[in-house]
Amino acid sequence: MRRTYTCNELTLKNIGEDVVLNGWVHSKRDHGSLIFIDLRDRYGLTQIVFNPETNKNIYMQAKELRSEYVLEIHGKVETRPQESLNNAIKTGEIEVEVKDLIVLNKSKTTPFEISEDNEIKEELRLTYRYLDLRKKKLQNNFILRSKVNQITRNFLYNNDFLEIETPILMKSTPEGARDFLVPSRNHPGKFYALPQSPQTYKQLLMIAGFDQYFQIVKCFRDEDLRKDRQPEFTQIDIEMSFVEVDDVIDMASKLICEIFEKSIGYKIKLPIEEISYKEAFERFGNDKPDLRIPFEIVTLNELFKNSEFMVFKETIKNKGSIAGIKIKGGVSFTRKKIDLMIEDAKNKGAKGLAYLKFKDGNFETGISKFLSSDEKDSLKRKFELDDGDLLLLVADSYNVVYPILGEIRLEIANELNLINENEYNFLWVVDFPLLEFSEEENRFVARHHPFTQPKLYSENIFDESPENIIAKAYDLVLNGNEIAGGSIRIHQKKLQERMFEILKISKKEAEQKFGFLLNALQYGAPPHGGIAFGLDRLIMLLTKAKSIRDVIAFPKTNSAYSLMEGAPSYVVDNQINDLHLKLKNI
Ligand code: ASP
Repeated sequence: MRRTYTCNELTLKNIGEDVVLNGWVHSKRDHGSLIFIDLRDRYGLTQIVFNPETNKNIYMQAKELRSEYVLEIHGKVETRPQESLNNAIKTGEIEVEVKDLIVLNKSKTTPFEISEDNEIKEELRLTYRYLDLRKKKLQNNFILRSKVNQITRNFLYNNDFLEIETPILMKSTPEGARDFLVPSRNHPGKFYALPQSPQTYKQLLMIAGFDQYFQIVKCFRDEDLRKDRQPEFTQIDIEMSFVEVDDVIDMASKLICEIFEKSIGYKIKLPIEEISYKEAFERFGNDKPDLRIPFEIVTLNELFKNSEFMVFKETIKNKGSIAGIKIKGGVSFTRKKIDLMIEDAKNKGAKGLAYLKFKDGNFETGISKFLSSDEKDSLKRKFELDDGDLLLLVADSYNVVYPILGEIRLEIANELNLINENEYNFLWVVDFPLLEFSEEENRFVARHHPFTQPKLYSENIFDESPENIIAKAYDLVLNGNEIAGGSIRIHQKKLQERMFEILKISKKEAEQKFGFLLNALQYGAPPHGGIAFGLDRLIMLLTKAKSIRDVIAFPKTNSAYSLMEGAPSYVVDNQINDLHLKLKNI
């Protein structure tokens, strides 16, 4: 049965050879005098031909073949006639004349065509995932994914990293997202949790002296359902000892460089630009800016510091922010469109959205009548205005102005097609705030995670304005997506305890949840830090797949359901009993 070639190998060099091929019937053309089949495997296609003149019996059998039948054929490689040459495929100059045919398996009519690239409802695709995965486009995604795993492993091995596995059944230490819990027959009333990430384990591996660790690892978060989120996802997880922020950034930059160059032949220019969180927020309205968009947010507080326009005057008085964006050629936006944008800005939480049209060297409409000629001149200079430009301004509190303008910036860029889809734009965002205040929980929460080291450490660091403390944390951003994030960790027990205190995690709770880590920190924990790449999102960007589900072999739907096997599912009462559990009426 064993093939002598794949379906993407034979060329003119093989003419006259007797070969064995295995594959699926991709398509069949019955020309009466001859039957042609494109035989498919994961490598490609080969045309096989059945000729009644040379082998009537096999020709008759070929008449019965249907799409997706699995074949073994024995035959001879021949040159294709001139009129059926196909330059688009590697085997396009040859065909194999079949001498012997074995049907290894039949196939029912598939619920959708494998050979065609038409839109199919995702529900159907996911139900028959194994058929969906036969399609070329999806196969290519997984071939690339496998390659990226290999490049990653090679790069990290070559740089002295050790691949070490960490447990899937661990202690529940929720901080951030919710844990998936696993009950066990042997431990009534107790639960393991699936790791949200191997964060504590990799820190313990540093304490154990392994120095440089990595793992391509599954992580689980029982989060609210959202588009393009999966309850389980894969990280390239990395930790290093005796490092500072720059060392991790340097290593991760080289890794991403290697991945892009060796997987898709794209050369990233090093060093990758770094900007602070504050700058990202004020220039782009978020912490994962897409720098492919050719305009940014401009702060106008200085320009309007003496403004007589009430809205601006009040904002300055209240220590708020005034900022704006310029849309090239935006004067063509209709009144209706602008009204919709104003409405939308209000829905997003702004008090309003002011606009100015710049036409024939002058400002028109909007708030222009409230501005002095000095202010108008300064605006012209600051935004380097050309005829036809539109300015959109927001005046509100600092935390409202920038995210709203950031969202508008993204929407307009998409609407006006201002994003070059072939560009890969990388950026490190550094100097994140260590903490942020959660109104909901009425306490500070860690922005990254509670093991992150503050940038400047002193005994009384937490005494004043915790929200102003900067963390040794960093994110790698690609085209507006966070593709990796990490930090230098706290390696001093005392500081870790202070951190828990600030997060209002009581001594008792800290001991219960993280006692093992606090304990370990007392036994010569080296300074250490690390990073994790979101592998699924990275592959999605590399393959330009439309959905994260197209780069995960067996993904869940948006409602975290697996349509193929039907998971999660009910289990039999015995199983529940064995686990010492009782179900509420559901
Ligand atoms: N464990 C972190 C995360 O999953 C990444 C890191 O800090 O290395 O986000």
